Amino acid sequence: MTTLSAPTLQPFKTASGRKFNFSAGPGILPEEVLRQAQHDLWDVAGSGIGILEHSHRGPVFDKILADAEAAVRDVGSVPDDYAVMFVPGGVTLHFGLLPMNFVRDKSQPVDYFLTGKWADDAAKEAEPLAHMNVAGSSKATRHDRIPAPETWKFSQGAAYCHFCSNNTIEGTQWKSEPVHAHGAPLVCDTSSDMFSAPMDVRKYGMIYAGAQKNLGPSGIVLVIARRSFIESGRDDLSVLLKYKTHMANESRYNTPNTFGIYLIGEVCKWIKRQGGLAAMKAHNAEKAAVLYSFLDSQSFYVPHAQKEFRSPMNVTFRCPSEDLDKKFCKEAEALGLDGLKGHRAVGGMRASMYNAFPIEGAKALVQFMKQFAQANAGK
Ligand SMILES: *Cc1c(COP(=O)(O)O)cnc(C)c1O
Repeated sequence: MTTLSAPTLQPFKTASGRKFNFSAGPGILPEEVLRQAQHDLWDVAGSGIGILEHSHRGPVFDKILADAEAAVRDVGSVPDDYAVMFVPGGVTLHFGLLPMNFVRDKSQPVDYFLTGKWADDAAKEAEPLAHMNVAGSSKATRHDRIPAPETWKFSQGAAYCHFCSNNTIEGTQWKSEPVHAHGAPLVCDTSSDMFSAPMDVRKYGMIYAGAQKNLGPSGIVLVIARRSFIESGRDDLSVLLKYKTHMANESRYNTPNTFGIYLIGEVCKWIKRQGGLAAMKAHNAEKAAVLYSFLDSQSFYVPHAQKEFRSPMNVTFRCPSEDLDKKFCKEAEALGLDGLKGHRAVGGMRASMYNAFPIEGAKALVQFMKQFAQANAGK
């Protein structure tokens, strides 16, 4: 029998008695919002009918949609010349919609930054439809960083320049947007760090984010885009594949994901009540510091991301062996620390700490990591 050299921890719980949910997505949502949604499933806005049961063209949903859009605009300081759209997805569908909508023909260049699995998947969808230019890549170092500006290569006449602001699987984040040398519109997959910190929408042609990381349920994508960019899109596509359709019909050309729109609205109102994006940034930085400062103070766990590019949303690290990675996840789960297994592309562990994740969870994880390292050092 092996004996632990450290005191054995008792299972951790949140203040409300739930597990600490480190899932990368679908991920944790604010408890206040979940409680409200429980109520609103039964009876929303005193209408006597639940949110899932209302017509998408009735007055109750009219207000929910208008409120959701207003909350997104408010939280994100979205200017009037930008459209806010709630579009079916997931995100992966949009990897294909982008070149379909905005590339003129196969000879037109598109610039893509390859910084992780999702960024690479986005580029793969554009390859058959455009002249692919890799603007920068971190593939050679297993996507542990954002490529240095000296290595960037941009095209003249590119339809757009695509990057992924936070690499969910690898745990890296752009600390500022790239600036395109020839002024091509920036298009960004912000799925895993959307509304986690202040952002300047004006720097982008289009921002798109799957809701399941920081905003709501899966299967719906929040799109914020310069109206003139959307209008420049192609007309010769099936109606729901055109961003134009969603913009012109205020996200309800057909029956939209009404519940998803409702929940994104509620999450944005929650962000506002917490103090907006500046407060989110401070809270996220505090949680990230707990974990990263521990990682920097020891030598048992090996972090994946280079320091300069560390993501506050997704923290990636490994044990000295794959067997220990497995043991780590199993023991963590038994202690109420859920969803720590890394993505198969990177291995190891990943602690996702989206906006709604409490700092107590970061502290609990560090306590567990200390005990696990002591008990397993030299194995
Ligand atoms: C989760 C994620 C995706 C994939 O989202 P789906 O909705 O499953 O297609 C794409 N990009 C990023 C950055 C993600 O975090």
